[in-house]
Amino acid sequence: MKTTILLLFASILTFLFSCSREQPKSGVQQPTSSQSHQQEQPSSSTQPVVNIPIFDAQRAFDLLVTQTNFGPRYVGSRGHSLCLVFLQNELKKYTDTVWSQNFSKKGYDNEILAMTNVIGSFMPKSKSRILLLAHWDTRPRADQDKDPAKRNQPILGANDAASGVAVLLEIARCLKNSPPTIGVDILFVDGEDYGKEGDNPNYLLGSRHFVSNLPKDYSPKFGILLDMIGDSQLEIKKERQSLRFAPDIVELVWSTAFSLGIQQFTNAIENNLGADDHIPLNQAGIKTIDLIDFNYPNATVNYWHTTEDTPDKCSAESLDAVGRVLLQVIYTQN
Ligand SMILES: [Zn+2]
Repeated sequence: MKTTILLLFASILTFLFSCSREQPKSGVQQPTSSQSHQQEQPSSSTQPVVNIPIFDAQRAFDLLVTQTNFGPRYVGSRGHSLCLVFLQNELKKYTDTVWSQNFSKKGYDNEILAMTNVIGSFMPKSKSRILLLAHWDTRPRADQDKDPAKRNQPILGANDAASGVAVLLEIARCLKNSPPTIGVDILFVDGEDYGKEGDNPNYLLGSRHFVSNLPKDYSPKFGILLDMIGDSQLEIKKERQSLRFAPDIVELVWSTAFSLGIQQFTNAIENNLGADDHIPLNQAGIKTIDLIDFNYPNATVNYWHTTEDTPDKCSAESLDAVGRVLLQVIYTQN
């Protein structure tokens, strides 16, 4: 019942916000003119005008909160079941082509992990495609919490899961309203954060399953992974494995961010070599970069894998920065 009320409340909020999208809301950076977001490329006889849809940052933030309202979403939890239905239903609103990969694996103490990757495809017949992905599961244990008594508690995963999913769901709405000229696949992978620290084979379960069961002839031009991009003190550095596997895509995305004046992307190199879902994809030949901010929120304070990974540590502005860059990339590909 509580969930029904929450869902109803979330639906009402979503409705209200979608009805009032033209009204600037406090705390959210709004375009100063219709041109600021509705970017038009220089017009010439050879270059068509590209209208980039407006990324609704407040709606993206609401989508983040909707996920955390389900509670922790680790594999096997009630929140995991509720969030799966939510993701499938959301994607169905934006594209007819939504499908899921169900898979299972034995976890710790012989626990059977029932997991699901969810995929929504735009222009599924197009050979020219890009892949956008984020993990949707949350960590079952807050093993980095400063309070030892909390280290067995699950995390809420506002940043570490919900942020990337929220941006991609808002992008899905934009793609529905303004169909792109390139095929786009939005992939939500499960089981990214199950493993105990150091136990690498028990991480990245959904992305490993995806590359072992790729759709026939699936060969996107590139992939972009979002992970922990909601931090209100967002700084996205160039991640080392992305530079190694897909330097041209790093260049594409960063030059796009700089061209938009988006300051959350910097030229610094991220030296943390934490494994993430882009690794299996790159190993399978899909060159994929990782947009991630390991410093959550900064170099001296850490909410990563703690019970403090909550929505108040995230911001609509950060989701907006990433969403705008992705939309610009999508609508300038063909
Ligand atoms: Zn994590």
